[in-house]
Order: sequence, then structure tokens, then C-alpha cells
Amino acid sequence: MKFGTKAIHAGVEPDPTTGAIMTPIYQTSTYVQKSPGDHKGYEYSRTHNPTRTALQNALAALENGSHALCFASGMAAIDAVIKLLKPGDEVIATNDLYGGTYRIFTKIFQNYGIKFHFTNMSDLGNVEALVNENTRIIWLETPTNPLLNIIDIKGCAAIAKKHNVLLVADNTFATPYLQTPLDLGADIVMHSLTKYMAGHSDVVMGALIMKDADLAQELAFIQNACGATPGPQDCFLVLRGLKTLHIRMERHCQNGRKVAEFLQNHPKVEKVFWPGLEEHNNHAVAKEQMRDFGGMISFVLKGDRQEDAIRTLERFHYFSLAESLGGVESLCGHPASMTHASIPREERMKAGLSDSLIRLSVGIEDAEDLIADLEQAIGS
Ligand SMILES: *Cc1c(COP(=O)(O)O)cnc(C)c1O
Repeated sequence: MKFGTKAIHAGVEPDPTTGAIMTPIYQTSTYVQKSPGDHKGYEYSRTHNPTRTALQNALAALENGSHALCFASGMAAIDAVIKLLKPGDEVIATNDLYGGTYRIFTKIFQNYGIKFHFTNMSDLGNVEALVNENTRIIWLETPTNPLLNIIDIKGCAAIAKKHNVLLVADNTFATPYLQTPLDLGADIVMHSLTKYMAGHSDVVMGALIMKDADLAQELAFIQNACGATPGPQDCFLVLRGLKTLHIRMERHCQNGRKVAEFLQNHPKVEKVFWPGLEEHNNHAVAKEQMRDFGGMISFVLKGDRQEDAIRTLERFHYFSLAESLGGVESLCGHPASMTHASIPREERMKAGLSDSLIRLSVGIEDAEDLIADLEQAIGS
């Protein structure tokens, strides 16, 4: 089955009692048993719910995995993965990680005796150098936020295999439409379904997808024991969103290219970060592992003054100033004062995240309108 057909059909069967083509929202906490232990596979909705099962099956199919687990948020999915570890275990992660991931690693799990190393994974030598006998997980995110760095998934997988550690890939920015990390050797794909997967800025949810049945069982145990499971209505919304994932992503990528090229040629723009541009640092790896380059773009204004960035952000009409990304509507943000404000300025500058950096989540509106909006907001 090709991707678009999977997005619409995978995991979803007509409802057995009525033939309803859409999986119903099974708004129930429990299921009646005929005799103790004699049930239809469903006992209690923290453990299983038919709407969630349909979504999990769809996600497994889209990521070319065999098992998927859904969580109440992307953070809850990350939380479950780290609960595979014990005190003394170590994790190697990208240094420009999603802020919430950095926070749960350093402010929560470090207190439980788990050690985290952060490094620039664009250079695989840095990863190899940090592996020791306590390493259990290599954690990557690609493209990264907000600088859109690309990490070589296959290269990291080779290091992970060699040392027998798990490779986890946060695939939130790319989605399986653009890249399928399990095919490139990752053991677990993690998603904030809140973003492109649901796609309509109306739900918060997360997921883990894998191929290994034992690993899936261990994570399902954690999911059920700790209990951060999503409700059936939210699962329904994500299932509905997935049906147009391929169409939305195609347009996000087309608009992304038009906006990136417009910005690249703008006299007031100093630098554009979009992995589809030839001049992007990791363009070659991006071309190798991604099918297209997505709708996330960052850019820096000439002169690099924070007040210029803020004035530009205030002038937008169609790009709404808001956190999050991946919805049908275009969003803009100022990482230095919003998503990445907790990182000291000096460290931000070292990572290349300057004061006038503006991040765009390019939506699926008409590109001409988006470009006109950029034109008037940046000014001449
Ligand atoms: C949003 C996001 C998360 C966290 O997911 P929530 O659904 O907000 O809990 C993790 N990783 C990335 C890359 C994200 O963008």
C-alpha cells in the first residue's frame, strides 16, 4: 500500500456493529464481561480502547512499524521511554533538543540518577566519543528546532547497533511522509501528534512506534502502569487528521520552498535555515534521508536586532504569533524570547540562535498570500 492509501485506510475497519466507516468514539471506561475473564479483548480503557487501537494501528502502518502506543501528550511518550532506564544508565542526546525534552531529562530524570550527555550530533564522531558501558539510549531529533539541523539517522543507527543501545528518533518535525526512521535503523519513533500528524491545532497527544514486540510489550506495560493515556475523542481527532496527512504535507513542502526562496532573495534577510536549500549545512544528508523538506523555516534579519524581529512579528496578518507548529494555519515565533527563553543568551548565541531569529511554521494557505504577508511585515 502506498503512503496516501495507508493514511486513509490503515488501521481502520468499518465498525462491526453498524458498519460506520469512521471508527466511533468509544466513550467508555469499562467493558462488560460474560464470565470473569471472558471478554472481547477490552477490560478497562486505560489499558485498551477501540478508538485508540485504530489510531495505534494507523500510526504503526505509516511509520512502517508493527506496534504503536498513544499517550496523552508528546511529553508523556518521552517520559515512558526514559522509564525503561535505571539509575546509573546514560543517554546521549542532541544539543539542540526540543525545550520540553531537555527539561524532562535535566529537571526530572537527572534526579533519578540517569545521566544525560548533550552533543552536536551533526558530527557523528561526537556521539561515538560519548558511548560507554552505561549508555542505553541515543536520542535524536531531526530536523531540529529552531535551526533545522539535520542528523544522519542511518549513521546514528550504525553506532547504536555496534554498542547495542536503543536509538530513539523524535520524528515530529518530519512526519513519516518525509522520513521513516525505523527503515533507517531507529528502534523507536517518537511523535508529538499535536503538530503535523493531527494537523489542525486542536489536540495534544503523543505516540511511540516500534518493530520489536518485546520492546513494545515493555513500553505498553509502562503506558498502562503509569497511565498517561489519551481519551477516545482526542484519538478520533488524530485519526481524522491523519487522513489528509499526505495532502497537507505536500502543500507544506511546496509553500515551504516558495517562502524559503523568497526570504533567501530578500535584501533585509541575512540568513535562511531550511534543509531544502543547497546552502544549508546538512543539505546532502537531508536529501539522502528525507523525501522533501517540510514547512519549518527560520531566518535572521540583517543587523540581528531583536527589536526588528519583534516589529516584524507584530506586523504579520496571516502568520499568527503563537507557540506550536504543524497546523494548517501559518504560525510565527521568536525563539529567543518564547520557546528558547530559558537558555542563557551566551549559550543561545553559541548554538547559532541569534536575537533576530524568526521561526515560521508555514501553513497550507495560498503561497501568494503568505509571501505578500512576509513582504509587508519585513518591509523594505
Ligand atoms: C511539541 C514537541 C514535543 C512535545 O510534545 P507535546 O505534544 O507538546 O507534549 C516533543 N518534541 C518536539 C520536536 C515537539 O515539537
